[in-house]
Amino acid sequence: MAQMRAAIESGVPDNKPFLHPLMRKNYGNWRFHDRPRPGVLHHVAHGGEEIWTVRAGTQRQMDVYTIRKLCDIADRYADGYVRFTIRSNIEFMVGDESKVAPLIQALGESGFPVGGTGNSVSSIAHTQGWLHCDIPGTDASGAVKALMDELYAEFIREDMPNRVHLSTSCCEINCGGQADIAVIMQHTKPPKINHDLVANVCERPAVVARCPVAAIRPALVNGKPSLEVDEKKCICCGACYPPCPPMQINDPEHSKLAIWVGGKNSNARGKPTFMKMVASGLPNNPPRWPEVSAVVKKILYTYKEDARPWERVADWVERIGWPRFFEKTGLPFTKYLIDDWRGSRASLNASTHIRF
Ligand code: SF4
Ligand code: SF4
Repeated sequence: MAQMRAAIESGVPDNKPFLHPLMRKNYGNWRFHDRPRPGVLHHVAHGGEEIWTVRAGTQRQMDVYTIRKLCDIADRYADGYVRFTIRSNIEFMVGDESKVAPLIQALGESGFPVGGTGNSVSSIAHTQGWLHCDIPGTDASGAVKALMDELYAEFIREDMPNRVHLSTSCCEINCGGQADIAVIMQHTKPPKINHDLVANVCERPAVVARCPVAAIRPALVNGKPSLEVDEKKCICCGACYPPCPPMQINDPEHSKLAIWVGGKNSNARGKPTFMKMVASGLPNNPPRWPEVSAVVKKILYTYKEDARPWERVADWVERIGWPRFFEKTGLPFTKYLIDDWRGSRASLNASTHIRF
């Protein structure tokens, strides 16, 4: 008789077996830590043991040769242990200070800059892009590479008023989360429906339920079951495209990029904050996205110049106010910017799946 297979509930694996032995031994028992130079953390345990962590930038989406190269560096110059930060920096741990300089040199010679700690611009967190997700309107990792090339100097030194976290998201779902400055895809036209395919490919009730503003209705088109979109209601969010690819919303001309500022995930010193949009309609212009880089750099260097020590971007904007933010950065203001769209509460009530 067929036996039911027991479910394997792995969950998140325990990270302790993978930690450097000194870290495992002194876990939660550190006396202090400091940073001898940008990109290097130094932890001292209550028992007197010390460990140095060297942080280097990576391109995040790596081929197997690059991963092997990083592992070889870990085996040869570090103690064979690495870990990745949430911003895709790689960290090597050593228990002997004399190993730090050769490790930094080996990383530099292989093209991995050391930095990203303290008040630097750390590597840009980015979403999956064309490699791993089925709905991107741009390549998040490409925009990140182009931007980080220009911000290299800010990665290897700690010259900002506070740490600066950047992110890039390749659709409006924005799985990149909140950041001090974020680049986010922005669709500007409702989806175009390929009616011949809808009946074969889409589960129509699922797509109707997905729309946050109830803009999609089932419809018969040329005698076939399909869908229609009330374009006056549609907010061009792109949420219907993943469950129904015939509702194509990506467009080479009308899918643009927007810049958002002032987001923060952590509770450190202040509560988490949501980002607000400060520039929109930038062209989705691979391979270097120069228009996006120009706006990000304008905001970043105005912040660097004007913020007080330890102010994050959101703190700086709160102190000077939004009108002066636009004056100082020179970005044009329109009525569509910085609003956090409180109207959503009323509109979301109209959907079939969310009720307040
Ligand atoms: S931002 Fe959107 S397209 Fe990009 S990985 Fe996340 S869900 Fe996919
Ligand atoms: S899910 Fe978003 S893009 Fe699709 S019809 Fe609704 S509002 Fe428009």
